[in-house]
Amino acid sequence: MRHRWMVWTGMFVMLITMAVFAAQKVYQWDIHDVNRPQPRIVAPGAEDRLPPSDAIVLFDGKDLSSWRSDKDGGEAKWKVENGYMEVVPGAGDILTRQAFGSCQVHIEWATPDVVAGSGQTRGNSGVYPMGCYEVQVLDSYRNQTYPDGQAASIYGQSPPLVNASRGPGQWQSYDIIFHAPVFQDGRLKKPATMTVLHNGVLVQDHWVLEGMTLHQERARYEPHADKLPFRIQEHGYLVRFRNIWIRPLED
Ligand code: MG
Repeated sequence: MRHRWMVWTGMFVMLITMAVFAAQKVYQWDIHDVNRPQPRIVAPGAEDRLPPSDAIVLFDGKDLSSWRSDKDGGEAKWKVENGYMEVVPGAGDILTRQAFGSCQVHIEWATPDVVAGSGQTRGNSGVYPMGCYEVQVLDSYRNQTYPDGQAASIYGQSPPLVNASRGPGQWQSYDIIFHAPVFQDGRLKKPATMTVLHNGVLVQDHWVLEGMTLHQERARYEPHADKLPFRIQEHGYLVRFRNIWIRPLED
């Protein structure tokens, strides 16, 4: 009788031990593990806005050699002067020659200093990771429009958390962290996400995109390649851009 009691107790203790062991999370590395790979060294730019050592510079103020026209696939026909590029109305959007997936992007822009129009017709342009997910560029300084279409909105989906706009004619910046959507067998497996800083202020916090940004309809996904060109919109307004660099990210 006593023997049986000892067997049951032993089995119970063993089961509890196994359960505790199974409940413990298995970590790849111990805490403070010196064998854990060291983060890669990247020298930051002399100023935060300048490209770090591993960035691909898409525009350094001199020429549009990294860009092509979306209209005819040929040379990008926007104006370059004084270290910036400027939209030429009618010349069409421009696309990078290189294709990118997930990435970190820095881009600076300025809407015209002469204020004309209101709402969406004041310095409208846009920047698009993968060519189809627009972060709106607009003069949103004392210029109301629908919130999901103002500067730093993810167009038609997500208004910025705050309006961090500088005045017309002033240089402004976007820092964008974009994670590409994943498609499998023609279906969306994982949506894209976007984090945006406008003039250094967080305005989109890991927003999960509803799809490609559209004007008249709600966003929807359409399966596309893993890498696509970065796009800047020509919307007929004399918007300027400078200091554009990108860091492809591994997902
Ligand atoms: Mg736009």
